[in-house]
Amino acid sequence: MSYFELKEPPRREERLGPCIACGSTIGKMNQRLGCCQSDGQRSFTQNSICLLLPALGIMNTIPNSVVLMHGAIGCGSSAHAGNAAVRSGNNQRWGVVKDGVWLSTALTERDVVTGGEEKLVAAIHEVDQRFQPTIIFIVSGCVPGIIGDDVDGIAARLQGEVQAKLLSVHCEGFKTKIWATAYDAIYHAIGRVMFNEPLAEFKKKPDKPLVNLMNVGSMGRVDEVEQERLLHSLGIETNIYPVFAKPESMYAMTQADLSISTCPTHDDYILKHLKEKYGIPYIIKHMPIGIANTGLWLRDIGEALGLTKEAEALIKKEEAELSAALKPFRKFFAGKKVFVSAGEFRALSTAILLAELGFEVVAVRSYHHDEFAEPEYEKLAKITTKDFPLNVANCQPFEEANLIKRLKPDVFLGHMNANSTAAKLGVATHVIYSVGLQYVGYHGAYQLARRLYRQLKNPRFNQNLSKWAKLPYSKAWYKEEPFKYIQTREV
Ligand code: SF4
Repeated sequence: MSYFELKEPPRREERLGPCIACGSTIGKMNQRLGCCQSDGQRSFTQNSICLLLPALGIMNTIPNSVVLMHGAIGCGSSAHAGNAAVRSGNNQRWGVVKDGVWLSTALTERDVVTGGEEKLVAAIHEVDQRFQPTIIFIVSGCVPGIIGDDVDGIAARLQGEVQAKLLSVHCEGFKTKIWATAYDAIYHAIGRVMFNEPLAEFKKKPDKPLVNLMNVGSMGRVDEVEQERLLHSLGIETNIYPVFAKPESMYAMTQADLSISTCPTHDDYILKHLKEKYGIPYIIKHMPIGIANTGLWLRDIGEALGLTKEAEALIKKEEAELSAALKPFRKFFAGKKVFVSAGEFRALSTAILLAELGFEVVAVRSYHHDEFAEPEYEKLAKITTKDFPLNVANCQPFEEANLIKRLKPDVFLGHMNANSTAAKLGVATHVIYSVGLQYVGYHGAYQLARRLYRQLKNPRFNQNLSKWAKLPYSKAWYKEEPFKYIQTREV
Protein backbone atom coordinates (compact mmCIF):
# COMPACT_ATOMS: atom_id res chain seq x y z
CA MET A 1 0.00 0.00 0.00
CA SER A 2 1.24 3.49 -0.86
CA TYR A 3 2.03 5.77 2.06
CA PHE A 4 -0.24 8.30 0.34
CA GLU A 5 -3.28 6.18 1.13
CA LEU A 6 -2.61 6.74 4.84
CA LYS A 7 -3.96 9.80 6.67
CA GLU A 8 -0.47 10.89 7.57
CA PRO A 9 3.05 9.95 6.50
CA PRO A 10 5.13 7.61 8.64
CA ARG A 11 7.80 9.09 10.89
CA ARG A 12 11.24 9.23 9.32
CA GLU A 13 12.47 7.25 12.32
CA GLU A 14 10.57 4.23 10.95
CA ARG A 15 10.78 4.99 7.23
CA LEU A 16 14.48 5.83 6.93
CA GLY A 17 16.12 4.84 10.23
CA PRO A 18 18.13 8.05 10.58
CA CYS A 19 20.53 9.02 13.34
CA ILE A 20 20.53 12.22 15.43
CA ALA A 21 23.33 11.61 17.89
CA CYS A 22 26.80 10.81 16.73
CA GLY A 23 30.35 11.94 17.31
CA SER A 24 32.67 10.46 14.75
CA THR A 25 35.25 11.35 12.11
CA ILE A 26 35.17 11.62 8.34
CA GLY A 27 37.39 8.54 8.07
CA LYS A 28 35.08 6.39 10.17
CA MET A 29 31.91 7.67 8.51
CA ASN A 30 33.38 6.94 5.12
CA GLN A 31 34.02 3.35 6.18
CA ARG A 32 30.50 3.14 7.67
CA LEU A 33 32.03 2.72 11.13
CA GLY A 34 31.24 5.99 12.79
CA CYS A 35 27.52 6.53 12.96
CA CYS A 36 25.04 4.68 15.09
CA GLN A 37 22.58 2.85 12.91
CA SER A 38 19.68 3.23 15.31
CA ASP A 39 18.25 6.47 16.69
CA GLY A 40 21.17 7.51 18.89
CA GLN A 41 20.54 9.15 22.24
CA ARG A 42 22.25 11.60 24.55
CA SER A 43 22.29 11.44 28.34
CA PHE A 44 22.07 15.25 28.24
CA THR A 45 20.06 17.14 25.60
CA GLN A 46 20.11 20.89 25.33
CA ASN A 47 17.32 21.55 22.82
CA SER A 48 15.77 20.55 19.52
CA ILE A 49 13.54 21.93 16.79
CA CYS A 50 9.87 21.16 16.20
CA LEU A 51 9.01 20.09 12.65
CA LEU A 52 6.58 23.00 12.47
CA LEU A 53 9.44 25.39 11.77
CA PRO A 54 10.36 24.03 8.30
CA ALA A 55 6.71 23.14 7.62
CA LEU A 56 5.49 26.70 8.20
CA GLY A 57 8.44 27.97 6.17
CA ILE A 58 7.02 26.13 3.15
CA MET A 59 3.27 26.56 3.66
CA ASN A 60 3.44 30.31 4.27
CA THR A 61 4.96 30.81 0.81
CA ILE A 62 2.10 29.24 -1.15
CA PRO A 63 0.12 31.98 -2.92
CA ASN A 64 -3.63 32.20 -2.23
CA SER A 65 -3.35 29.97 0.79
CA VAL A 66 -4.01 30.34 4.50
CA VAL A 67 -2.31 28.31 7.22
CA LEU A 68 -4.75 27.42 9.97
CA MET A 69 -2.81 26.18 12.98
CA HIS A 70 -4.86 23.82 15.11
CA GLY A 71 -3.09 23.81 18.45
CA ALA A 72 -1.69 26.07 21.12
CA ILE A 73 -1.16 29.67 20.04
CA GLY A 74 2.63 29.47 20.45
CA CYS A 75 2.94 26.70 17.84
CA GLY A 76 2.82 29.24 15.03
CA SER A 77 5.40 31.57 16.54
CA SER A 78 8.17 30.65 14.09
CA ALA A 79 5.97 32.06 11.31
CA HIS A 80 6.90 35.54 12.57
CA ALA A 81 10.61 34.90 12.08
CA GLY A 82 10.00 33.21 8.73
CA ASN A 83 7.85 36.01 7.38
CA ALA A 84 10.80 38.09 6.13
CA ALA A 85 11.65 35.27 3.71
CA VAL A 86 8.00 35.10 2.58
CA ARG A 87 7.87 38.85 1.94
CA SER A 88 11.17 38.99 0.06
CA GLY A 89 10.35 35.79 -1.85
CA ASN A 90 7.01 37.23 -3.00
CA ASN A 91 8.73 40.44 -3.99
CA GLN A 92 11.47 38.64 -5.96
CA ARG A 93 8.96 36.48 -7.83
CA TRP A 94 5.91 38.67 -8.36
CA GLY A 95 7.09 42.17 -7.42
CA VAL A 96 4.68 42.32 -4.47
CA VAL A 97 5.64 42.52 -0.80
CA LYS A 98 3.13 40.14 0.75
CA ASP A 99 2.99 38.46 4.17
CA GLY A 100 2.18 34.82 4.77
CA VAL A 101 -1.30 34.47 6.27
CA TRP A 102 -1.63 32.20 9.30
CA LEU A 103 -4.25 31.89 12.00
CA SER A 104 -4.58 29.69 15.04
CA THR A 105 -7.45 28.01 16.81
CA ALA A 106 -5.46 28.92 19.97
CA LEU A 107 -6.53 25.89 22.00
CA THR A 108 -6.70 26.44 25.75
CA GLU A 109 -6.50 24.18 28.79
CA ARG A 110 -10.31 24.01 28.72
CA ASP A 111 -10.20 22.76 25.11
CA VAL A 112 -7.78 20.03 26.17
CA VAL A 113 -10.55 18.71 28.40
CA THR A 114 -13.59 19.36 26.18
CA GLY A 115 -11.98 18.90 22.74
CA GLY A 116 -11.06 21.39 20.02
CA GLU A 117 -13.16 20.14 17.09
CA GLU A 118 -15.90 22.78 17.36
CA LYS A 119 -13.33 25.56 17.29
CA LEU A 120 -11.68 24.03 14.24
CA VAL A 121 -14.95 23.71 12.29
CA ALA A 122 -15.84 27.35 13.02
CA ALA A 123 -12.33 28.51 12.08
CA ILE A 124 -12.36 26.67 8.72
CA HIS A 125 -15.66 28.32 7.77
CA GLU A 126 -14.42 31.72 8.87
CA VAL A 127 -11.12 31.44 6.96
CA ASP A 128 -12.96 30.27 3.82
CA GLN A 129 -15.38 33.19 3.92
CA ARG A 130 -13.01 35.91 5.07
CA PHE A 131 -9.96 35.16 2.87
CA GLN A 132 -11.46 33.04 0.06
CA PRO A 133 -8.17 31.17 -0.40
CA THR A 134 -7.51 28.38 -2.91
CA ILE A 135 -5.96 26.25 -0.17
CA ILE A 136 -6.43 26.06 3.59
CA PHE A 137 -3.60 24.13 5.25
CA ILE A 138 -5.09 22.66 8.44
CA VAL A 139 -2.03 22.03 10.55
CA SER A 140 -2.19 19.79 13.62
CA GLY A 141 0.18 20.58 16.48
CA CYS A 142 0.76 18.50 19.60
CA VAL A 143 -2.50 19.31 21.41
CA PRO A 144 -4.98 17.82 18.89
CA GLY A 145 -2.59 14.87 18.52
CA ILE A 146 -2.75 14.22 22.26
CA ILE A 147 -6.48 14.81 22.84
CA GLY A 148 -7.49 12.97 19.67
CA ASP A 149 -9.30 15.63 17.60
CA ASP A 150 -10.31 14.05 14.28
CA VAL A 151 -8.74 16.68 12.04
CA ASP A 152 -8.79 14.51 8.88
CA GLY A 153 -12.44 13.58 9.46
CA ILE A 154 -13.38 17.26 9.81
CA ALA A 155 -11.46 18.20 6.65
CA ALA A 156 -13.21 15.42 4.69
CA ARG A 157 -16.65 16.40 6.07
CA LEU A 158 -16.26 20.12 5.41
CA GLN A 159 -14.69 19.82 1.96
CA GLY A 160 -18.15 19.81 0.39
CA GLU A 161 -19.16 22.95 2.32
CA VAL A 162 -16.26 25.26 1.54
CA GLN A 163 -14.67 26.66 -1.59
CA ALA A 164 -11.01 26.15 -0.61
CA LYS A 165 -9.16 22.87 -0.94
CA LEU A 166 -8.62 21.56 2.60
CA LEU A 167 -5.17 20.03 3.13
CA SER A 168 -4.60 18.32 6.46
CA VAL A 169 -0.93 18.52 7.51
CA HIS A 170 0.26 16.52 10.51
CA CYS A 171 2.97 18.34 12.43
CA GLU A 172 2.55 17.02 15.96
CA GLY A 173 5.97 17.88 17.34
CA PHE A 174 6.06 15.11 19.94
CA LYS A 175 5.87 12.41 17.28
CA THR A 176 9.31 12.81 15.76
CA LYS A 177 12.80 13.99 16.55
CA ILE A 178 13.64 14.13 12.83
CA TRP A 179 12.21 17.46 11.83
CA ALA A 180 12.85 16.69 8.14
CA THR A 181 9.61 14.70 8.56
CA ALA A 182 8.00 18.11 7.91
CA TYR A 183 8.83 17.81 4.21
CA ASP A 184 7.02 14.46 4.03
CA ALA A 185 3.99 15.95 5.84
CA ILE A 186 3.63 18.77 3.30
CA TYR A 187 4.26 16.59 0.25
CA HIS A 188 1.78 14.06 1.64
CA ALA A 189 -0.99 16.67 1.87
CA ILE A 190 -0.25 18.11 -1.58
CA GLY A 191 -0.04 14.66 -3.20
CA ARG A 192 -3.31 13.45 -1.66
CA VAL A 193 -5.39 16.47 -2.67
CA MET A 194 -3.76 18.59 -5.37
CA PHE A 195 -2.71 15.78 -7.74
CA ASN A 196 -6.24 14.45 -8.24
CA GLU A 197 -7.44 16.97 -10.83
CA PRO A 198 -6.19 20.21 -12.38
CA LEU A 199 -7.64 23.38 -10.85
CA ALA A 200 -6.90 25.25 -14.05
CA GLU A 201 -6.16 24.28 -17.63
CA PHE A 202 -2.68 22.79 -17.86
CA LYS A 203 -0.64 23.26 -21.02
CA LYS A 204 2.66 21.48 -21.32
CA LYS A 205 5.23 23.38 -23.35
CA PRO A 206 5.61 21.58 -26.69
CA ASP A 207 8.93 20.17 -27.93
CA LYS A 208 10.79 20.77 -24.70
CA PRO A 209 11.45 18.46 -21.78
CA LEU A 210 9.68 19.66 -18.62
CA VAL A 211 11.19 18.94 -15.21
CA ASN A 212 9.96 19.29 -11.65
CA LEU A 213 12.69 21.15 -9.78
CA MET A 214 12.18 20.60 -6.08
CA ASN A 215 12.83 23.38 -3.57
CA VAL A 216 11.40 23.19 -0.06
CA GLY A 217 12.97 26.51 0.83
CA SER A 218 16.67 25.80 0.94
CA MET A 219 17.21 27.96 -2.13
CA GLY A 220 16.28 31.59 -2.52
CA ARG A 221 15.09 32.99 -5.83
CA VAL A 222 18.69 33.85 -6.85
CA ASP A 223 19.65 30.18 -6.61
CA GLU A 224 16.56 29.12 -8.55
CA VAL A 225 17.58 31.58 -11.26
CA GLU A 226 21.03 29.95 -11.50
CA GLN A 227 19.49 26.49 -11.85
CA GLU A 228 17.07 27.78 -14.48
CA ARG A 229 19.97 29.43 -16.33
CA LEU A 230 21.82 26.10 -16.54
CA LEU A 231 18.77 24.00 -17.41
CA HIS A 232 17.36 26.48 -19.92
CA SER A 233 20.69 26.51 -21.72
CA LEU A 234 20.17 22.75 -22.21
CA GLY A 235 16.69 23.45 -23.59
CA ILE A 236 14.89 22.19 -20.46
CA GLU A 237 11.79 23.88 -19.02
CA THR A 238 11.40 23.98 -15.24
CA ASN A 239 8.50 23.89 -12.80
CA ILE A 240 9.66 24.75 -9.29
CA TYR A 241 7.89 23.13 -6.31
CA PRO A 242 6.67 23.46 -3.66
CA VAL A 243 7.76 26.89 -2.33
CA PHE A 244 5.91 29.80 -3.92
CA ALA A 245 4.14 27.34 -6.26
CA LYS A 246 0.66 28.49 -7.21
CA PRO A 247 -1.97 25.94 -6.17
CA GLU A 248 -3.33 25.91 -9.74
CA SER A 249 0.05 24.67 -10.98
CA MET A 250 0.56 21.84 -8.49
CA TYR A 251 -1.23 19.31 -10.70
CA ALA A 252 1.45 19.97 -13.35
CA MET A 253 3.88 18.05 -11.15
CA THR A 254 2.16 14.86 -12.33
CA GLN A 255 2.80 15.71 -15.99
CA ALA A 256 6.57 16.36 -16.06
CA ASP A 257 9.20 14.30 -17.89
CA LEU A 258 11.55 14.14 -14.92
CA SER A 259 11.73 15.20 -11.27
CA ILE A 260 14.99 16.58 -9.93
CA SER A 261 15.92 16.95 -6.31
CA THR A 262 18.21 19.80 -5.37
CA CYS A 263 18.69 18.47 -1.83
CA PRO A 264 18.25 14.70 -1.45
CA THR A 265 17.51 15.07 2.29
CA HIS A 266 14.18 16.65 1.40
CA ASP A 267 12.52 15.02 -1.53
CA ASP A 268 12.52 11.21 -1.69
CA TYR A 269 8.97 10.91 -0.32
CA ILE A 270 7.31 12.84 -3.16
CA LEU A 271 9.68 11.74 -5.91
CA LYS A 272 8.98 8.07 -5.21
CA HIS A 273 5.24 8.78 -5.23
CA LEU A 274 5.44 10.62 -8.57
CA LYS A 275 7.35 7.66 -10.01
CA GLU A 276 5.07 4.97 -8.59
CA LYS A 277 1.74 6.61 -9.41
CA TYR A 278 2.49 8.78 -12.46
CA GLY A 279 5.55 7.06 -13.95
CA ILE A 280 7.79 10.13 -13.69
CA PRO A 281 11.47 9.18 -13.32
CA TYR A 282 13.55 11.08 -10.80
CA ILE A 283 17.09 12.01 -9.85
CA ILE A 284 17.96 12.25 -6.18
CA LYS A 285 21.71 12.21 -5.97
CA HIS A 286 23.83 15.32 -5.92
CA MET A 287 23.23 18.82 -4.61
CA PRO A 288 24.37 21.45 -7.13
CA ILE A 289 26.58 23.21 -4.58
CA GLY A 290 30.27 23.03 -5.48
CA ILE A 291 32.13 22.75 -8.76
CA ALA A 292 32.29 18.97 -9.13
CA ASN A 293 28.82 18.45 -7.64
CA THR A 294 27.19 20.90 -10.05
CA GLY A 295 28.82 19.01 -12.92
CA LEU A 296 27.59 15.66 -11.58
CA TRP A 297 24.08 17.09 -11.13
CA LEU A 298 23.99 18.38 -14.72
CA ARG A 299 25.50 15.17 -16.11
CA ASP A 300 22.75 13.05 -14.53
CA ILE A 301 20.04 15.34 -15.91
CA GLY A 302 21.63 15.32 -19.37
CA GLU A 303 21.81 11.54 -19.34
CA ALA A 304 18.18 11.15 -18.19
CA LEU A 305 16.90 13.44 -20.96
CA GLY A 306 19.21 12.33 -23.79
CA LEU A 307 21.28 15.53 -23.60
CA THR A 308 24.63 14.07 -22.57
CA LYS A 309 26.71 15.89 -25.20
CA GLU A 310 25.05 19.23 -24.50
CA ALA A 311 25.55 18.78 -20.74
CA GLU A 312 29.26 17.96 -21.18
CA ALA A 313 29.80 21.04 -23.35
CA LEU A 314 28.02 23.25 -20.81
CA ILE A 315 30.04 21.87 -17.88
CA LYS A 316 33.32 22.40 -19.75
CA LYS A 317 32.50 26.00 -20.62
CA GLU A 318 31.20 26.90 -17.15
CA GLU A 319 34.12 25.25 -15.32
CA ALA A 320 36.66 27.10 -17.47
CA GLU A 321 35.00 30.46 -16.76
CA LEU A 322 34.70 29.72 -13.05
CA SER A 323 38.29 28.54 -12.77
CA ALA A 324 39.55 31.84 -14.19
CA ALA A 325 37.24 33.83 -11.91
CA LEU A 326 38.37 31.98 -8.78
CA LYS A 327 42.08 32.33 -9.44
CA PRO A 328 42.59 35.57 -7.47
CA PHE A 329 41.10 33.97 -4.32
CA ARG A 330 42.88 30.64 -4.22
CA LYS A 331 46.17 31.72 -2.66
CA PHE A 332 44.35 33.63 0.08
CA PHE A 333 42.08 30.68 0.94
CA ALA A 334 44.84 28.02 0.91
CA GLY A 335 45.02 26.24 4.25
CA LYS A 336 42.47 28.45 6.04
CA LYS A 337 40.48 26.34 8.48
CA VAL A 338 36.72 26.05 8.08
CA PHE A 339 33.96 24.47 10.19
CA VAL A 340 30.65 23.77 8.42
CA SER A 341 27.27 23.28 10.12
CA ALA A 342 23.83 22.76 8.54
CA GLY A 343 21.42 20.09 7.34
CA GLU A 344 23.43 17.02 6.32
CA PHE A 345 23.47 17.37 2.53
CA ARG A 346 24.04 21.11 2.55
CA ALA A 347 26.82 20.83 5.13
CA LEU A 348 28.64 18.11 3.19
CA SER A 349 28.29 19.68 -0.26
CA THR A 350 29.37 23.08 1.09
CA ALA A 351 32.37 21.45 2.81
CA ILE A 352 33.32 19.84 -0.52
CA LEU A 353 33.07 23.22 -2.26
CA LEU A 354 35.24 24.86 0.39
CA ALA A 355 37.83 22.09 0.00
CA GLU A 356 37.72 22.74 -3.76
CA LEU A 357 38.48 26.40 -3.01
CA GLY A 358 41.54 25.43 -0.95
CA PHE A 359 40.18 25.59 2.61
CA GLU A 360 41.08 22.94 5.19
CA VAL A 361 37.84 21.43 6.53
CA VAL A 362 38.30 20.92 10.30
CA ALA A 363 34.77 19.80 11.28
CA VAL A 364 31.28 19.20 9.94
CA ARG A 365 28.11 19.22 12.03
CA SER A 366 24.78 18.06 10.54
CA TYR A 367 21.27 17.86 12.01
CA HIS A 368 20.71 14.20 11.24
CA HIS A 369 22.17 11.42 9.14
CA ASP A 370 20.39 9.19 6.67
CA GLU A 371 21.25 6.98 3.70
CA PHE A 372 20.99 9.70 1.04
CA ALA A 373 24.17 11.46 2.15
CA GLU A 374 26.45 8.44 2.19
CA PRO A 375 28.08 9.16 -1.22
CA GLU A 376 28.88 12.69 0.01
CA TYR A 377 31.06 11.32 2.81
CA GLU A 378 33.07 9.42 0.22
CA LYS A 379 33.51 12.57 -1.88
CA LEU A 380 34.52 14.62 1.16
CA ALA A 381 36.96 11.96 2.40
CA LYS A 382 38.56 11.90 -1.06
CA ILE A 383 39.09 15.64 -1.36
CA THR A 384 40.31 16.27 2.22
CA THR A 385 43.71 15.05 3.32
CA LYS A 386 43.33 14.90 7.12
CA ASP A 387 40.78 13.14 9.29
CA PHE A 388 38.46 15.52 11.19
CA PRO A 389 35.46 15.33 13.55
CA LEU A 390 31.89 14.86 12.37
CA ASN A 391 29.03 15.64 14.69
CA VAL A 392 25.43 14.62 14.07
CA ALA A 393 23.27 16.71 16.37
CA ASN A 394 19.71 17.97 16.22
CA CYS A 395 20.89 21.35 17.53
CA GLN A 396 22.92 20.78 20.76
CA PRO A 397 25.02 23.97 20.48
CA PHE A 398 27.08 22.97 23.56
CA GLU A 399 28.80 20.27 21.49
CA GLU A 400 29.41 22.74 18.69
CA ALA A 401 30.86 25.33 21.10
CA ASN A 402 33.27 22.75 22.51
CA LEU A 403 34.42 21.76 19.01
CA ILE A 404 34.87 25.37 17.86
CA LYS A 405 36.93 26.22 20.94
CA ARG A 406 39.34 23.31 20.45
CA LEU A 407 39.58 23.40 16.62
CA LYS A 408 39.89 27.20 16.30
CA PRO A 409 38.64 27.55 12.71
CA ASP A 410 39.34 30.73 10.74
CA VAL A 411 35.73 30.79 9.60
CA PHE A 412 32.49 29.06 10.54
CA LEU A 413 29.65 28.55 8.07
CA GLY A 414 26.33 27.77 9.71
CA HIS A 415 22.75 28.90 10.01
CA MET A 416 22.17 32.05 12.03
CA ASN A 417 21.68 30.30 15.38
CA ALA A 418 24.90 28.29 15.09
CA ASN A 419 26.75 31.34 13.79
CA SER A 420 25.95 33.20 17.01
CA THR A 421 27.81 30.48 18.96
CA ALA A 422 30.88 30.83 16.73
CA ALA A 423 30.70 34.64 16.72
CA LYS A 424 30.72 34.77 20.54
CA LEU A 425 33.86 32.65 20.45
CA GLY A 426 35.50 35.25 18.18
CA VAL A 427 35.40 33.20 14.96
CA ALA A 428 34.53 34.85 11.64
CA THR A 429 31.15 33.61 10.42
CA HIS A 430 29.27 33.39 7.18
CA VAL A 431 25.65 32.33 6.83
CA ILE A 432 25.42 28.98 5.02
CA TYR A 433 22.00 29.85 3.66
CA SER A 434 20.12 33.07 3.15
CA VAL A 435 17.30 33.66 0.66
CA GLY A 436 19.01 36.77 -0.72
CA LEU A 437 22.45 35.21 -1.34
CA GLN A 438 23.69 32.87 -4.04
CA TYR A 439 25.24 29.47 -3.22
CA VAL A 440 24.10 27.11 -5.96
CA GLY A 441 25.75 26.25 -9.27
CA TYR A 442 28.79 27.91 -10.81
CA HIS A 443 27.63 31.43 -10.06
CA GLY A 444 26.95 30.40 -6.46
CA ALA A 445 30.48 29.00 -6.05
CA TYR A 446 31.96 32.28 -7.24
CA GLN A 447 29.67 34.44 -5.13
CA LEU A 448 30.40 32.43 -1.98
CA ALA A 449 34.15 32.73 -2.63
CA ARG A 450 33.81 36.48 -3.13
CA ARG A 451 31.87 36.92 0.12
CA LEU A 452 34.28 34.76 2.13
CA TYR A 453 37.26 36.67 0.76
CA ARG A 454 35.74 39.95 1.87
CA GLN A 455 34.83 38.56 5.27
CA LEU A 456 38.20 36.98 5.98
CA LYS A 457 40.09 40.07 4.92
CA ASN A 458 38.81 41.69 8.08
CA PRO A 459 37.60 39.23 10.76
CA ARG A 460 37.81 41.81 13.59
CA PHE A 461 34.08 42.24 14.23
CA ASN A 462 33.53 38.84 15.88
CA GLN A 463 36.91 39.06 17.63
CA ASN A 464 35.75 42.25 19.30
CA LEU A 465 32.29 40.81 19.93
CA SER A 466 33.78 37.86 21.83
CA LYS A 467 35.30 40.28 24.38
CA TRP A 468 31.82 41.38 25.46
CA ALA A 469 29.40 38.56 24.61
CA LYS A 470 29.79 35.27 26.46
CA LEU A 471 28.35 31.81 25.97
CA PRO A 472 26.63 30.19 28.97
CA TYR A 473 29.05 27.23 29.35
CA SER A 474 31.53 26.73 32.17
CA LYS A 475 35.28 26.62 31.51
CA ALA A 476 35.22 22.98 32.60
CA TRP A 477 32.95 22.04 29.68
CA TYR A 478 35.53 23.14 27.12
CA LYS A 479 38.03 20.68 28.67
CA GLU A 480 35.60 17.76 28.35
CA GLU A 481 35.40 15.42 25.38
CA PRO A 482 32.80 17.10 23.07
CA PHE A 483 30.79 13.93 22.50
CA LYS A 484 30.78 12.71 26.11
CA TYR A 485 26.96 12.77 26.38
CA ILE A 486 26.35 10.70 23.26
CA GLN A 487 25.51 7.23 24.46
CA THR A 488 25.43 5.17 21.29
CA ARG A 489 28.35 6.61 19.42
CA GLU A 490 29.61 3.71 17.37
CA VAL A 491 28.53 0.29 16.21
S1 SF4 B 1 3.59 21.20 17.69
FE1 SF4 B 1 4.18 20.61 19.79
S2 SF4 B 1 6.44 20.73 19.84
FE2 SF4 B 1 5.72 21.86 18.03
S3 SF4 B 1 5.55 24.00 18.71
FE3 SF4 B 1 3.50 23.06 18.97
S4 SF4 B 1 3.48 22.29 21.09
FE4 SF4 B 1 5.64 22.73 20.54
